[in-house]
Amino acid sequence: MATVTQAYRFALDPTPRHRRALASHCGAARYAYNWGLQLVQQRLEQRRAGEDVEVPWTLSELRLEWNRAKSQIAPWWAENSKEAYSSGLDGLARALKNWTDHRSGRRRGRRMGFPRPKRKGHCRDACRFTTGQIKVLPDRKHIQLPRIGVLKTHESTRKLARRLEQGTARIIAATISRQADRWFVSFTVEVQRHLPTANGKAGVVGVDAGVRHLAVLSTGVVVPNPHAVQRSLRKLRRINRELHRRKLGSRRRGQSRRRLARVHARAANLRRDALHKLTTTLATEHSTIVVEHLNLAGMVRNRHLARALADCGLAELRRQLAYKTAWYGSRLVVADRFYPSSKTCSACGWVRAKLTLAERTFICEACGLRIDRDLNAARNLATLAQHVAQSGWETQNARGADRKAQLVGRWP
Ligand SMILES: [Zn+2]
Repeated sequence: MATVTQAYRFALDPTPRHRRALASHCGAARYAYNWGLQLVQQRLEQRRAGEDVEVPWTLSELRLEWNRAKSQIAPWWAENSKEAYSSGLDGLARALKNWTDHRSGRRRGRRMGFPRPKRKGHCRDACRFTTGQIKVLPDRKHIQLPRIGVLKTHESTRKLARRLEQGTARIIAATISRQADRWFVSFTVEVQRHLPTANGKAGVVGVDAGVRHLAVLSTGVVVPNPHAVQRSLRKLRRINRELHRRKLGSRRRGQSRRRLARVHARAANLRRDALHKLTTTLATEHSTIVVEHLNLAGMVRNRHLARALADCGLAELRRQLAYKTAWYGSRLVVADRFYPSSKTCSACGWVRAKLTLAERTFICEACGLRIDRDLNAARNLATLAQHVAQSGWETQNARGADRKAQLVGRWP
């Protein structure tokens, strides 16, 4: 038995009154964030001018300042749960910390700028509750949140409710968020899980995530995209073209934009669902799973829809595999980002100089192998892990405290 932190997310069916309360709480979080940010900037300027002032930087410091000022600047504060303001200030404290950590070299990855104000309609609407009445009601159709009250869920909460009733789960926090025009609640839960060992599983499997297929496995199995995703992709392209024909700031452009957001959310949900089925199968049936490295920092701004979706798919695949391999006692290996998994011949090891995205078949000029591009990549990934095992690399079980997947295959 081990304690793992897990999220349970449910779509909500809010009444108009609930919708207003949900939006109000997210607005309150945004307000507190922006207010705190302004205060920090103001104090920093005062300090630069030589004044001796305290600059609030942590959540508790920011909360202290907020409580001192709230009846002056936000006399309506009692309309929302105090958790809403706390949630906004918490977001700010984290952003400030990311910025200082990045500047001092303690944080790797994408450059972290100084926090910027959140604009309504441009930022994620979300609010996190950590104390108060956070409940999953025994009828499995309702949940309860502080101040907002009892909300109906769109789907049954039985998976979480069952665990709560058995006493194998404990709710730590609840986050409400909006995606397109739908509201969600996500519970952060501490769950007691049995962690099995890797015994009795098939060996290594290489996974190549793509756009044409959800994934291609080194075993030759092609996991197709759900049909609904293909349909959504076509629809996305159409609405995208339509959006760009509309005049900037017009009412119809707004309509297209909202429709695009809805189709996008649906496509992403369908993909995520399909990926969940795939990653559970992989983690329960294989002892070692090898995936490509993905440059998360570089993937954000990419104009090509197909490429962007493939990146999202791969990021989500890796995220799910990272915790599921820990749950099911298997191991996740991530190939080094410079490992040429698609350019290498999986039969003889010859490396092609160049392979464009349009080339669907890999043809080896050394041994004459003709093979599907994705299958070739998946096979290379699987081989990579076998080399790692043979060369006596320290193999790391994902059940350890350090859940980071292992990076292998650094190429000259
Ligand atoms: Zn070859």
